[in-house]
Amino acid sequence: MTVFDPPLAHCLICDSDDIHECHRDANDIRIFRCRGCGVQFMNPQYSDRHLADYYSRYTKAEPEWDEPLAYCHGLYLKILETYVPSKGALLDVGSGKGHLLAAALQRGWDAEGYEIDGPLARELSARLGTEVKCGDFPELGWQAGQFDAVVMLHVLEHVKNPARYLRAIRTMLAEDGVLFLALPNIHSLSSRVKLLLEKLHVRTKNIGAYYDTGHHLWYFTPETLTQILSRFGFEVRYTRGGHRVRPNQSRIKRFVMWNVTERNLLHSTFLCVAQKRVGT
Ligand SMILES: [Zn+2]
Repeated sequence: MTVFDPPLAHCLICDSDDIHECHRDANDIRIFRCRGCGVQFMNPQYSDRHLADYYSRYTKAEPEWDEPLAYCHGLYLKILETYVPSKGALLDVGSGKGHLLAAALQRGWDAEGYEIDGPLARELSARLGTEVKCGDFPELGWQAGQFDAVVMLHVLEHVKNPARYLRAIRTMLAEDGVLFLALPNIHSLSSRVKLLLEKLHVRTKNIGAYYDTGHHLWYFTPETLTQILSRFGFEVRYTRGGHRVRPNQSRIKRFVMWNVTERNLLHSTFLCVAQKRVGT
């Protein structure tokens, strides 16, 4: 099987050809940075066949994670709900095991999903009693303005072409519609320290492991994402560190993490609420 596509000669997000290699991980995966929009990306990227095979085995049953994920996603929906006038139509892009979708339905959203794994999409649809589409995301017959909210939790960094997704999402959002994203932060304190130690040749093992190149193709920071979303007609309204709860973690520890240690943007993941800008 062909694992990689031919190398990209330009940035798929801003079309700039001012791209250069900025790092190479322990598996010889090359990381490029675009001077046009600041995004970093794997180049060459994995082939569609490689990714299809990978994602057919990606979502595994891990029952001990049900409670922490449901807890986290309930918290994320509470944030999202402060940016919309009412709970209307919501699309969860990358539904996985359906934690966000289930939480949204429970909280009164008219929620449906999108999932790249066909059998999983059918199982979710039957279990939750709502539509879960599968296929080439932008080409699935979405209607303009049909959603009040679109949620993508740790999805944008996985897709071959984030620009196609962002264009499609902007079109399918209603006028005041909101996009809620969770992403890894390649500029987190931990990543920055590791990168520095690698450049100084102090860290010599697991080089670039924080890029997670087994399945992450694109690498964002809160700053680059804000600029990129602006290019695609969104205005970022809210950004903060993401939540990383664990099974059997006490409520007090979760509270302290969420309100103290994860509040700043040094955390390894971040959340972003962006509103559709009208007229651009
Ligand atoms: Zn670019």
